[in-house]
Amino acid sequence: MVNIIVIGAGVVGLSSAVSIQRALPGVKVKVVADKIYDETTSIGAGGIFLPTTTNIPGVSEDTLRRWSETSWHVYSKMATSDLASSTGHTVSHGYLLHKTRMKGKPLYADIVYSYREMSPGELIKLGVYDNFRFGYEITTVITNMRKYLKWLMNQFTANGGEVERRKIGSLMELYGQCNVVVNCSGLGSRQLCGDKLLYPLRGHLIKVKAPWVKDWVYTDQQAHLFLSDDFVVLGGIKEKDNWSLNPDPAVRQGILDRNFRYWPALTGAEYLEDWVGLRPMREPVRLETEVIRSPQRTLKIVHNYGHGSNGVALSWGTAVEAAKLVKELISKTSSSKL
Ligand SMILES: Cc1cc2nc3c(=O)[nH]c(=O)nc-3n(C[C@H](O)[C@H](O)[C@H](O)COP(=O)(O)OP(=O)(O)OC[C@H]3O[C@@H](n4cnc5c(N)ncnc54)[C@H](O)[C@@H]3O)c2cc1C
Repeated sequence: MVNIIVIGAGVVGLSSAVSIQRALPGVKVKVVADKIYDETTSIGAGGIFLPTTTNIPGVSEDTLRRWSETSWHVYSKMATSDLASSTGHTVSHGYLLHKTRMKGKPLYADIVYSYREMSPGELIKLGVYDNFRFGYEITTVITNMRKYLKWLMNQFTANGGEVERRKIGSLMELYGQCNVVVNCSGLGSRQLCGDKLLYPLRGHLIKVKAPWVKDWVYTDQQAHLFLSDDFVVLGGIKEKDNWSLNPDPAVRQGILDRNFRYWPALTGAEYLEDWVGLRPMREPVRLETEVIRSPQRTLKIVHNYGHGSNGVALSWGTAVEAAKLVKELISKTSSSKL
């Protein structure tokens, strides 16, 4: 029997594992990870679908569009189907507010449900014109990561998938245990592959309760608010090369000040908790095969990591392609045996 090991139980690893099961029925897939569910970065992601070429540098626009459209096809279907309450996908309306005009339309503009530039009059009516001269009204999908990771894990185990909690010290450790390794270890690849192109882009989120806020707001001034089922998530910083997972009080205050100033309707929100996460950033995302050969040993690998700020948005698209690469590696092995 063909055996596949997927390293990583974040959104990229679980999506890849489920995609492989769907593309290659009958293969045995195991997920190996040292952190699962609420220990991963994926659990804290805002989960908004707004993929851009700026956030994912080094990937061609055509490739990014293909990954984004594949994900969108699935997420938008889920958000409007009877599965929405269990997969965690929600149709969500909001505003992107900028001090300076965006250069051209972002990649997602013609993918999401709706996107349009607002007039100065509309920004005045919304009460944001003093701070933001440009605004875009967007309807997209937000993914509740607590629900989605659970749903992916349920799909995986229901299809016969196995999960092992273990830290992998070196990829060669898996030699002889499977036909192909699929490496979805996010920032872990810095150590696993010695990948110096990979670095953390630190984020800090503050969860508050403000059930009267019904629209998400994203700005170009390190302030944003996203909606989840039970809370509103305030962000947004992106600190390069900062590995600390401890909330920084000064950063925290800055996030609160900016969000409450730009969106005064938050006044009265009840504080719930802070969360710090490290986006696995790489230019470009690594989605490719590698064959490590030594005189006696050959290990076939599909790498799928480094999705930075858009890992939720791109996870399904890259997972489908990772599954195709696994299929190619396996069929090359069987034809070379003939
Ligand atoms: C504050 C913040 C907000 C975000 N908001 C959004 C958003 O709105 N929209 C969006 O699209 N994206 C967003 N993201 C980005 C998104 O969260 C990430 O791109 C995505 O979660 C990366 O998923 P992953 O599976 O690659 O990594 P992770 O979730 O980090 O999972 C990595 C997995 O690999 C395992 N692993 C690593 N090394 C080893 C090892 N040696 N042995 C065994 N297992 C190993 C870990 O245990 C873990 O299971 C946000 C990120 C942050 C921090």
